[in-house]
Amino acid sequence: MSSNPSPAAERLSNAVPSSPPRTDVLVVGAGPAGLMCAREAAGRGLRVLVLEQSDRPGRKLLVSGGGKANFTNRRVLPLHYRCGDPAFCGPALKAFSPAVMERLVAAWGLPVEERGHGQLFLTVPARNLLHCLMEDVRTRGGEVRTRCTVRALRRTADGFCVETDGGPCLARAVVLAAGSPAWPQAGGSPAGFRLAQACGHTLVPPFPALAPLLLPPDALPAPAAVPARPVEPSRTASRRLPPAARRGLPPAARSGPGGASSSPVEDAPATLAGISLPVRISLPETGLPPALARDPVWQDDLLFTHEGLSGPAALKASLFWEPGKAVQVDFLPGTSFRALLDDPRGGRRTPFSLLRQQLPQRLAEALLPPEPARRRAAGLSRAAREQLCAAVHARRFLPSGVADFRKAEVCGGGIDVREVEPRRLESRLLPGLFLIGELLDVTGLLGGYNLHWAWASGVAAGRAVLS
Ligand SMILES: Cc1cc2nc3c(=O)[nH]c(=O)nc-3n(C[C@H](O)[C@H](O)[C@H](O)COP(=O)(O)OP(=O)(O)OC[C@H]3O[C@@H](n4cnc5c(N)ncnc54)[C@H](O)[C@@H]3O)c2cc1C
Repeated sequence: MSSNPSPAAERLSNAVPSSPPRTDVLVVGAGPAGLMCAREAAGRGLRVLVLEQSDRPGRKLLVSGGGKANFTNRRVLPLHYRCGDPAFCGPALKAFSPAVMERLVAAWGLPVEERGHGQLFLTVPARNLLHCLMEDVRTRGGEVRTRCTVRALRRTADGFCVETDGGPCLARAVVLAAGSPAWPQAGGSPAGFRLAQACGHTLVPPFPALAPLLLPPDALPAPAAVPARPVEPSRTASRRLPPAARRGLPPAARSGPGGASSSPVEDAPATLAGISLPVRISLPETGLPPALARDPVWQDDLLFTHEGLSGPAALKASLFWEPGKAVQVDFLPGTSFRALLDDPRGGRRTPFSLLRQQLPQRLAEALLPPEPARRRAAGLSRAAREQLCAAVHARRFLPSGVADFRKAEVCGGGIDVREVEPRRLESRLLPGLFLIGELLDVTGLLGGYNLHWAWASGVAAGRAVLS
């Protein structure tokens, strides 16, 4: 998509210091938040100029949702966001609901589909949504200029003077919609934070979020030596597996049950990498509010990678994970492994063979403690059953960190929301300055929540600016 240089923008690039161009509202950043704000403000008859540093607007929108933009969610609540003040995003979300966004997308004629957890995606490329948004901004008289970086802004007697690559520009109000440093491949940068800080705002330390969880090599379970058939106690007295059971097992397993638990852990990531399955993930040590901890969003797909845990479940956990704390995974959500172990029809089988019917074999081998996993289910003690169930339903991992901003879909932290009025998104420190979108310390879970926050905060500021 190309953006036509606007009359105001042309004047901007040729500006002479004595007569800088003037506009009512200058929006910094042509991402979803800035464009939505421009659409709303231009619809009110205000002169709106959007300045975008990149050569194209909406680069993150274009790559969102795998290119199909998970643009909202049928169920958007403040609890789905991490924010310095949990109530902050309530008013803007209430004033612009997912249903309103869905109607707007329908009015634009864009086809959508609902996926799990109420996530609404386009079924056409995200550039179609960007095109409709840009067209609305233009037809309402708004102007978008690309390749124009805002370097600084300062208060004047009747508004702001904004320093740009193309010279200064005067505006009665300024909206900062410059995003975050996440995903620099699509233009993410901390420039917006710096502009807000230069206006006196406080930065809540930013961190990569909705990113893979990194695990130290020994944190991933290694497949254990579990023979396919039950092993009687007398045959394990030597603590060695029968030769037949050792054939074809990985080196760690061949050394027998004792060897399995001290297996070369560096094999584990390679062994499990690529396994993807539905799980329920939780953060038992981080004290999530009960309503959030119970939310169905935590049941989603998990992917083992060479570095740790990825997939939607791990990405969501990364938003609330705290260093030094564990994440817990239920590998059989909705199925009771205890019931399988207790079922008399499976009494002659081993826990391993029962689990193998539910999970990929490599994972089943890796999860279960080798000793009870190789006994007949009927003969297991109560303690052994509990140990096996904990291994499957409450497996804990201790991440060493979260991947960096290059793999982070969003940035946690941001401009402190206590300095921003929640209905208008106007600075409490500098009236006439508005702050919206991912720039703020409002970060949603995976599932359309971040784009919805961009729309909702953009609409709130677009309605409030110069009102
Ligand atoms: C790979 C990926 C997939 C994603 N998928 C989804 C999804 O499916 N659903 C969802 O809800 N969210 C998704 N997100 C998150 C979502 O894209 C962002 O939360 C959203 O784009 C934030 O909108 P924004 O307008 O606040 O910021 P941005 O989209 O980052 O836009 C900010 C704009 O400001 C410009 N800018 C910055 N500084 C300056 C300056 N000084 N002068 C001029 N311009 C400047 C930037 O170039 C940028 O264009 C995804 C993110 C990524 C990276």
